[in-house]
Order: sequence, then structure tokens, then C-alpha cells
Amino acid sequence: MSETLTNWAGNITYTAKELQRPPSLDALRALVADSARVRVLGSGHSFNEIAEPGDDGVLLSLTALPPAVDIDTSARTVRVSGGVRYAELARVVHEHGWALHNMASLPHISVAGSVATGTHGSGVTNGSLASAVREVELVTGDGSTVTISRGEARFDGAVTSLGALGVVTALTLDLEPDFEVAQHVFTELPLEGLDFETVAGAAYSVSLFTDWGRPGFRHVWLKQRTDQPLPDFPWAAPARVAMHPVPGMPAVNCTEQFGVPGPWHERLPHFRAEFTPSSGAELQSEYLLPRPEAMAALHALDAIRESIAPVLQICEVRTVAADRQWLSPAYGRDTVAVHFTWVADTEAVLPVVRRVEEALEPFDPRPHWGKVFTLRSAALHERYPRLPEFRALVDALDPAGTFTNAFVRDFLHPLS
Ligand SMILES: Cc1cc2nc3c(=O)[nH]c(=O)nc-3n(C[C@H](O)[C@H](O)[C@H](O)COP(=O)(O)OP(=O)(O)OC[C@H]3O[C@@H](n4cnc5c(N)ncnc54)[C@H](O)[C@@H]3O)c2cc1C
Repeated sequence: MSETLTNWAGNITYTAKELQRPPSLDALRALVADSARVRVLGSGHSFNEIAEPGDDGVLLSLTALPPAVDIDTSARTVRVSGGVRYAELARVVHEHGWALHNMASLPHISVAGSVATGTHGSGVTNGSLASAVREVELVTGDGSTVTISRGEARFDGAVTSLGALGVVTALTLDLEPDFEVAQHVFTELPLEGLDFETVAGAAYSVSLFTDWGRPGFRHVWLKQRTDQPLPDFPWAAPARVAMHPVPGMPAVNCTEQFGVPGPWHERLPHFRAEFTPSSGAELQSEYLLPRPEAMAALHALDAIRESIAPVLQICEVRTVAADRQWLSPAYGRDTVAVHFTWVADTEAVLPVVRRVEEALEPFDPRPHWGKVFTLRSAALHERYPRLPEFRALVDALDPAGTFTNAFVRDFLHPLS
């Protein structure tokens, strides 16, 4: 490539032979049909080589395509084109009096890239962002268009698909009536004696944050819909000042706290669309485990907190409702998700990532597809019981392997 292109975090430099930004759907179809190897780049917020096509491949950006966000009031859906980010989508959806069921911690990420990796927010009854998808429109390797809708047998492989089936040119998502959320932050929640189910279910979306510098959680963020009562929260004290999840970072970057009601898309994410999310200089890992194992898993991490803390900026614990996408890390199990924002130092972080993976191993962790992990692909296979169906779907939609890459190949067909 003539320009050096990295992911958002800067830890991956794409080696693709070229970056293409087709200006129209027809140009995109022609480009795909003429290319032996293609991977789509969303907003580049993943921390690993999931989007990398390899040095003989084309990296395809959808940013030059006309963006579309089309609401269908009678069907209660929104159709969004492949390059659009959540910030843009949410603004239009809210302006029309509708809402999405949930958001990730930041609105800066593309919708297609997020659902491809199983990206999620929090909430014991909230499925991953992919669970809102009703229809996927794909351009496949020969340049033709395939539409796959909820209800078709293959739909459960078509959304959280790691970008392996084709270019997602549009997604149709479920809408619900607009709602407001108020965000309440509490400090210093002990781990000892924690009733995880009660705390995790105390509001519509709950996040627990710890630096693992000492036992317990530094913050608990409760995001409650204003049409639902906020229960008493006697386990921790209300925060006196506005907080940022990462110690030392300015709270002005974060969505409004202190229980001030606001629209769903300005409260469910932690970070405001107009600021850099998180710390900006970081790596991330995340493991999704069965929710009944939450306390045992947190104690296992507490036992190695002296290894974790020196390379950690912050750890966040969330919940995700079970979903049906074959490759979703929340497939078939109500989930607790344990996330780590590390310092931006791969060499220092990787040994600790391995220690975390060893500590979580008894709980069948499924890593977030878009973050740093070292678990061997072969070891993950038994954690994805629908993998054979997914392989068959890839063979059917992408027989020439146009959309494969080393990351996908290694997971689908590991050498050992
Ligand atoms: C600061 C920060 C905060 C984060 N917070 C959260 C969080 O709260 N919850 C969470 O679960 N994750 C979180 N993530 C991870 C992030 O959501 C995922 O990495 C997500 O995939 C990012 O979307 P993207 O568009 O940047 O994807 P990219 O990294 O660009 O791509 C990811 C995958 O999607 C594929 N893809 C993208 N667009 C298309 C398309 N149109 N057609 C086909 N394939 C496509 C790519 O080929 C690749 O395989 C966070 C990341 C950052 C940097």
C-alpha cells in the first residue's frame, strides 16, 4: 500500500497490497468480482488481525459509498448501509422517535464491523448488538448480492460472521420506541460477599470497574431506563464527582452522570461521540463466560491481581443475554464478559493475557473476536458447537475463499 494504514489502536499495520474505497455499489461489485482476496475494514477498532487480508489482498473501505439510514415505521426497523457508524445511526433513529436496544461503550464503531465480531454492551436481558439484526445484505465473491433474513436456517451464521461471508452492504435492525436513561455511578463495591446476580440486574445496563490494585471494584455504573424504577443500591456509595472508567482520564469525555435523564444513545455508551473514547493509548482483551460462573471467575482473577495490575488501565465486568448467532461469544449462554484495557505495550501485556487465560480456563472462556487473545483456535472449537454449520455456510457463500484471511482460516481449519 502506498499509505501506511493502522487500526485505531496503532498496534496493527495492515499489509494489504492496496486500500480501495469504491464510490458506488456497482464499483464495489466489480472490484470484488475482479479480486482474489478481499477483507472489509470497518472503523478499525479491533485490536488484532481480523480485518487483515494479507499482502496479496485488497482492504476495502466503505467510507466513500453514500451513507444510508432508512427508517421503516410500520415494520419498526432501520436499514443502515455498510459503512455507517453507531453515532450517525443513533442520531437519526432518535430524531425519528425510535431507539436501539443497546449500545457498546463507544458510538464511534461501524455497525457492520461491530456485529461481525459480536460486540456488546451490558444488561442481563440485553443481547449483543447483533441480536437486533433482522436482515443482512451481502456482496459475495462473484459480485452478486445475497440477502439473508431472520427465520432462514442460515441466518444464525450470517451476522456474527467475522467478515468471512462477503461485504455487508446493508443491515436491517429492529427498533423500539425511544426511551430515556439516567446514569448513576457508585464507588467501592467489595468483591467479598458480592451478590453478582442482584448487582448485575440492578439496572437496565450495569458495568463494574476495577484496577485489580486491591480487592473489589472501584466503580459501579448503573444505567437505568427512566420508565423503570432504580432500586436501592446499598452496597456502594454514590460518587461525588463525575468519573471516567480509566483512572486519571477526564470525565468530560464521558456521557452525563448523577442521574440526569437523557436519550438512550447519550447514556448507554460510556463515551461521548465527540471525544476520544477510553484512554486512546491501549490494548484490549475480553473473555465471555457463562454467567453462573461469574463469582468463581472473579475470584480466580483476584488471585492473580498482582500480575494483572501493573499492565492494566482498567477492567470492566458486564453481562450479555444469550443469543443464537453461531459464532457469537454469547451463543447459547447467558454471559458475563470480563474486559481488560491494558497499557499500549504488547510485549509487556501478552504474558499477562496468557495468565488471565489460564486463570479463566476452567470457565470455558470465549474471547471477544475483535480483541487481543492467545488461545489456540483448536481449543476454541468445542466452545462453538455450531462451527460445522458455519464452515458449510462459508463454503456455500464463498467457495473461492475471496473473504478468508489468516485469522479466519486459523479458526475454521487450524493446522493442529
Ligand atoms: C475504545 C474501544 C472501545 C470498545 N468497546 C467495546 C464494547 O463496549 N463492547 C464490545 O463488545 N467491543 C468493544 N470494542 C471492540 C469493537 O467493538 C470491535 O472491535 C468492533 O469489531 C469494531 O468495529 P469496527 O467497525 O471498527 O471493526 P473492524 O475492526 O474494522 O473490523 C472487524 C471485523 O468486521 C469485518 N467488517 C467490518 N465491516 C464489514 C462489512 N461492511 N462487511 C463485512 N465485514 C466487515 C472486518 O473485516 C473484520 O473482520 C471496543 C473497541 C475500542 C477501540
